[in-house]
Amino acid sequence: MTTDSTQPEASLSLPPFKNERIFAGIDDPTVREAFPQALAKVRTQLGRTYPLYIDGQDVTTDSLLDSVNPAAPEQIVGKVCQAGVAEAEQALTAAEKALLTWRNVAPAERAACLVKAADLARQRLYEYAAWQVLEEGKQWAQAYNDVTEGIDFLEYYAREMIRLGTPQDMGSYAEESNFYFYQPKGVAVVIAPWNFPFAISIGMAAAAIVAGNPVVYKPSSQSAVVGHHLVEIFREAGLPAGVFNYLPGPGSVIGDHLVDSPKVAVIAFTGSMEVGLRIIERAGRTTEQQPSVKKIVCEMGGKNAIILDEEFDEDAAVRDVLYAAFGYQGQKCSACSRLIVHDKAYDRFVPKLVEAAKQLKLGPAEDPQNYMGPVIDAKAQRTISQYINLAQVEGKILCRSETPDQGYYVPLTIAEGFTPEHRLAQEEVFGPLLAIMRAQDFEQALDWANSTRFALTGAIFSRNQEHLDRAVRDFRVGNLYLNRSSVGALVKVQPFGGFKMSGVGTKAGGPDYLLHFMDPRAVTQQP
Ligand code: NAP
Repeated sequence: MTTDSTQPEASLSLPPFKNERIFAGIDDPTVREAFPQALAKVRTQLGRTYPLYIDGQDVTTDSLLDSVNPAAPEQIVGKVCQAGVAEAEQALTAAEKALLTWRNVAPAERAACLVKAADLARQRLYEYAAWQVLEEGKQWAQAYNDVTEGIDFLEYYAREMIRLGTPQDMGSYAEESNFYFYQPKGVAVVIAPWNFPFAISIGMAAAAIVAGNPVVYKPSSQSAVVGHHLVEIFREAGLPAGVFNYLPGPGSVIGDHLVDSPKVAVIAFTGSMEVGLRIIERAGRTTEQQPSVKKIVCEMGGKNAIILDEEFDEDAAVRDVLYAAFGYQGQKCSACSRLIVHDKAYDRFVPKLVEAAKQLKLGPAEDPQNYMGPVIDAKAQRTISQYINLAQVEGKILCRSETPDQGYYVPLTIAEGFTPEHRLAQEEVFGPLLAIMRAQDFEQALDWANSTRFALTGAIFSRNQEHLDRAVRDFRVGNLYLNRSSVGALVKVQPFGGFKMSGVGTKAGGPDYLLHFMDPRAVTQQP
């Protein structure tokens, strides 16, 4: 490999970035054939043991965690070796050593590894999606689109690194010439959630790696089998030993150690507000052994609202609100959990929505006829059930579906009667519970939409152009959607991320994302 990161390699020329094609629908002939085949293939591989991957080697541990199918918890999807503090330290040391060479590899060569990884993921698209159906209870479309998003991250960040990896001529002053370039920050710890187990994991890891930072990746304990797909493709893509390390293990055991380590320069985290704030606080305590101040890229939760104005396309709103609230069981950071309806539209729209919701089928995600599947685990099932009980106290339930007996199911629930003072209007539930709020006018709807600590996604359906324009300025969220659902952001065209308690203002899949993983340098030369 070339070892000069200040010089881009001229030979890598890539076509312009194009988003991968998203799921074609369950009636598409290719999908009809390929998905069941992939599910059958994956079923033959259930129950395997997954080792850690440190310094280019598989590492087994005595401690194993069973990852199960949430639709059938007796079914073990995989047995995942669990890292403790000793393995965490081993992985950090391997990454620290790899930094010495990886940071000097030319940006275009690092980018080439990502493009190769994207190719490998593309070849296994259905298979990787099928694993998510079984480990995470994702519907076919949701699982497929998670993998395509991961491919998009790989392709996009590869191109971004070629752009940013080209040293810039800053012009001259007097006789001096000046140029500007970036160097990697150092060892990166990547801590991922389970709900987009491939896309978010590979997005954060790929950004760090292509920018020259070796990665210690801690997948969520609920999605560590899918997390192992990163090992497969990065190993085959030819990343040198120590550049990517896979470290499954309980956050409660290894999380603080990774965050506190003086070896770490940057932490990329996506998950809950509680864990995110803990990481920010701990990483802010700088010790004497630490060579640099830690940078934290932190994406957290949401309490997203859709506003329905006085006049809007009602059929589109029914379809999109249901999808935003109940797609993947509402377990998306971008999911709609508050529906704020204009007083004058309320009585004609809400009954329509409830009627449509009652038609949605619930059951294992393996069956594409089911609109909703199980939630991720027993703990989520308990927490969401408690919020449903609270909805009954704070408001009035309009719809609560039946659930299968087996598996971690909770009912699809719609409730009304909420105002900003209620907990259901403030706290992230992360499940299929939609709280409806009746606003007296557009101003109040906008006010209520902004009345939480979160600022991730939002949407407004309206035929009033002035109101849409007002929303662009005053509906203060990271990703705002006009006359469409609030979920499904695409890499590059819809950079994703929030602010306030939803994040620190970073945008995954956006043009400044890689900059969080690098330090800029300027060089001035006398003739
Ligand atoms: P979580 O409970 O915060 O866990 C996220 C990750 O943090 C997991 O890998 C977890 O490991 C780890 N962790 C737990 N305790 C830790 C500690 N003390 N130190 C370091 N790491 C620790 O979140 P989740 O349930 O996986 O995901 C759901 C949340 O993520 C929701 O709040 C959702 O809104 C948010 N989310 C946000 C975005 C976004 O882009 N803004 C995207 C997706 C999800 P274990 O699994 O081993 O506990």
